Amino acid sequence: MTLTNWAGNIAFDAARVHRPSTVDRVREVVAGAERVRVLGSGHSFNDIADTPADLISVAGLPVEPRIDAAAGTVTVAGGVRYGQLAAFLDAQGYALHNLGSLPHISIAGAIATGTHGSGAALGNLATAVAGIELVTAGGDLVRLARGDADFPGAVVSLGTLGVVVGVTLDVRPAYTIRQFVFEHLPRSVLDARWEDIATAGYSVSLFTGWAGDTVDQLWLKLADGEEPDGFGAVPAGRAMHPIAAMPPESCTDQGGVPGPWHRRLPHFKLEFTPSSGEELQTEYFVARDDAVEAFAAIERLRHLVTPVLQISEIRVVAADELWLSPTYRRDSVALHFTWIQDAARVAPVVAALEEALAPLAARPHWGKVFHRAARPERLTDFLALRDRLDPDRKFSNAFVERHLAAE
Ligand SMILES: Cc1cc2nc3c(=O)[nH]c(=O)nc-3n(C[C@H](O)[C@H](O)[C@H](O)COP(=O)(O)OP(=O)(O)OC[C@H]3O[C@@H](n4cnc5c(N)ncnc54)[C@H](O)[C@@H]3O)c2cc1C
Repeated sequence: MTLTNWAGNIAFDAARVHRPSTVDRVREVVAGAERVRVLGSGHSFNDIADTPADLISVAGLPVEPRIDAAAGTVTVAGGVRYGQLAAFLDAQGYALHNLGSLPHISIAGAIATGTHGSGAALGNLATAVAGIELVTAGGDLVRLARGDADFPGAVVSLGTLGVVVGVTLDVRPAYTIRQFVFEHLPRSVLDARWEDIATAGYSVSLFTGWAGDTVDQLWLKLADGEEPDGFGAVPAGRAMHPIAAMPPESCTDQGGVPGPWHRRLPHFKLEFTPSSGEELQTEYFVARDDAVEAFAAIERLRHLVTPVLQISEIRVVAADELWLSPTYRRDSVALHFTWIQDAARVAPVVAALEEALAPLAARPHWGKVFHRAARPERLTDFLALRDRLDPDRKFSNAFVERHLAAE
C-alpha cells in the first residue's frame, strides 16, 4: 500500500521505510544509508518529509517520559504525539505552555517546522524545547541543550540535521482554561481593535472566510483571572466547529466550561482521530504590527481566495530566537488558509497571496503548501551547522535543496 501524508496529497517516494524500535537500530539504519529522511506523523502538506531513498519513522521507539521536577522539564521520545504526552503530564500535575490545533501531531515533526498554537505571549511549540537528542549522519548520538551555541539552529531543523530520538521540553504546573466562542465580529472592529483582540486572552483565534463584513468566529481560550470580551461579536449560543456548517462534536468544550489545558488549547479532541483530511493548508507569518495591512492585502484577492477556501484562521505567536523559525525575532500574526483539496486550483491562489504579502516580508509555514520562501535571516549560520553535522547532505531532499539553497 502506498504510504501518504495525512491529507493524502503526497505519496511518499521512499525505496525503503524503516520502523526501528530501538535507538541503536536507528543508529545502524542511519549509518548504513546513503540518503535518509525522517517521517513524523505525516501531517505536513508538502514534500518536506519525502525522499526517494530511506525513510525512517521513530514512532515505534519506547515513549519513556521522564519528568525532572527540579529542572522543570520532561524528556520523551521524539516520535510521541502531543496528545499522548499531554495526558501523561496532566496526570502528573504538569503542563506545556501551548499546543497546536490538533493533538495528533508528533513532537519532533512539529518542532522541526516551527508548528505553533496561538497566544501573543506564547512562542511556538519549538520554544519549549530545552534539549534534543539526535542521531547524526555517521550514526552518532548527539545531545544539544539550550545555551549551546548550535542549539538555536538545531530545533527548527526541517529534518536536515539528524533523527531526533529524544526531546526535553519545559513544563509548568497544570492549569485550567475556559474557552469562549463569539460569532460575527464586525470586520471594522478587527482593524480598529486589532492589538486589543490579539492580546484578549491566553490564546486567541479568529476564523474567517474573508467574504463579508464580519469575521465568522472569535475563539478565546482564557486562563484564570481573564474575563471574556467579544468586542461586539455575539456569544455563540451553541458549540461551534471553526467551519460553522460542520458538526461540533470533534471540537474541544466551549461555553466557558473550565477544563484542563490539554482539553481546551487544541481546537480538536484527541479521541476524535481524524483519518485523512479533504483539505490543503497554507500559512504565512507577518509582523503582528502589520496585521491590518495583511488583512487588506488578502481581501484584495478575495475573488481568488474565496472560491477555493474552506476557512482561514488568524493567530498570534511571540517572537523567538530559533534560526529557521517563521517567527524568528518577530512577534507575528499567522494567517492560515484551509483550502479545498484541489492542488491545481489552489496553486495560483497561493502564488498570488505570496506576491501580495511579499512587501510585508511574509514567511511561509514550512509544513504547508507554498511556492517560495524568503531567504531566512540566519540561513548562512544554519547551512554552516548543517555542513558540520551532515557534510555529505545525507539528510537532504528535494524540498531542502529548493528552499535552503545558499544562493
Ligand atoms: C489537521 C492539521 C492541523 C494542523 N494544525 C497546525 C497548527 O495548529 N499549527 C501549526 O503550526 N501547524 C499545524 N499543522 C501543520 C503540522 O503541525 C506540521 O506540518 C508539522 O510539522 C507536522 O508534524 P509531523 O510529525 O506530522 O511531521 P511530518 O510532516 O511527518 O514531518 C515534518 C518535518 O519534520 C521532520 N521530522 C519529523 N520527525 C522527525 C524526527 N524524529 N527527527 C527529525 N526530523 C523529523 C521531517 O523530516 C519533516 O522535515 C497542522 C496539520 C494538520 C494536518
